[in-house]
Amino acid sequence: MSSALSVHTTIEDFEVRDGCLCIGGNSITELAAELGPSPFYVYDSELIKKRIRQLRDALPKAISLHYAIKANPMPEVVDLMSHHIDGLDVASAGELEIALSTSCKPADISFAGPGKSIAELEMAVAAGVTLNVESETELDRIVTIAQATGSRPRVAIRVNPDFELKSSGMKMSGGSKPFGIDAEQVPAVLGLMKTLPVDFIGFHIFSGSQNLRPEAICESQSQALELAFRLAADAPVPPQTINIGGGLGIPYFPGDQPLDLSPIAANLSGLLELTKERLPGTEIVMELGRYFVGEAGVYICTIVDRKVSRGQVYLVTNGGLHHHLAASGNFGQVIRKNYPVIIANRIGSSDLETASVVGPLCTPLDLLADRMTLAKAQIGDFVAVFQSGAYGYSASPHNFLSHPPPNEYLR
Ligand SMILES: *Cc1c(COP(=O)(O)O)cnc(C)c1O
Repeated sequence: MSSALSVHTTIEDFEVRDGCLCIGGNSITELAAELGPSPFYVYDSELIKKRIRQLRDALPKAISLHYAIKANPMPEVVDLMSHHIDGLDVASAGELEIALSTSCKPADISFAGPGKSIAELEMAVAAGVTLNVESETELDRIVTIAQATGSRPRVAIRVNPDFELKSSGMKMSGGSKPFGIDAEQVPAVLGLMKTLPVDFIGFHIFSGSQNLRPEAICESQSQALELAFRLAADAPVPPQTINIGGGLGIPYFPGDQPLDLSPIAANLSGLLELTKERLPGTEIVMELGRYFVGEAGVYICTIVDRKVSRGQVYLVTNGGLHHHLAASGNFGQVIRKNYPVIIANRIGSSDLETASVVGPLCTPLDLLADRMTLAKAQIGDFVAVFQSGAYGYSASPHNFLSHPPPNEYLR
């Protein structure tokens, strides 16, 4: 990549010693000996911190960065994040508990997600975190809790915008959606809020995820802010924060280019100027998950069998779809493509072959690599799947086929 602002963690960002992948100073072989046998996920804390630094250096200083912990809710990872970002975004009582156990202040934690239970709402109100309300019913429930406890809950409105993030991996807004309150209904809800025992905090406008097109991200961020400016006219008080979402993608597949941050940074500078005029004192938040952690994580499993079926080599591993649904292509992907996969203890080998990497499950979906060029591997070798730091461990059906779950380590 030519642009200085294109940051991309690839295999080149990981140390290789004697042909073996290293993470946090230890080779996979050493890690397996020290931590226990594969399969496991391992996340490199230095790479996570480096990514946050790179993003902060690239973006205007005034932009606040929040971590959406569903991308990787491992408590050690969330704790690390809490020391380096400005807030945490959670979407369940379980995630809230993890966030509250870190150094992050409750006021810097927000809780989004449709269908929050009464118990979750009570927990959030008691903790003093911001609730991103997803419906009028939810607002009613929060008011009931406020009245019963004599507290003033912090409430932001999750807005279902009237636009969508173009070419996103996963569309989560525009048209009819289960997320947020439709933009056209928000003025009435804000009017109602003036009479309610809640503190209005701001707007949460999330319009998509995994986007690698800077123009699309710029456009949706500009539209989010324009929408927030319009809606703020009806708010009980000016918004403290406007969460414009994130959407920054990472390259997973051949041909994917790492995101060029410079146009996004330039657009945000302009938006900050506008905000200073229209809503002085309002903080702009970007909420990111995979961009922080996705490239810092590797999934490791071991080859337990090697077989040839009608000319096609299969490397059968002790890991698979039940540990890493996304790498198998079954986590929302329309067309299956290979994640970056290597034989982790034969890096640089010139003895190559075309092979498929599969898991132990009795389903053809259990595929980690489909006819890839790999170093010729033997039983006992390690397979590494890169770009596995987000939506890996926690987004996989560990119980399917009742194999043991993988381990997880932060190094
Ligand atoms: C999942 C989610 C994110 C994070 O998405 P990434 O693609 O991991 O950056 C951010 N905001 C909200 C509201 C989400 O639901």
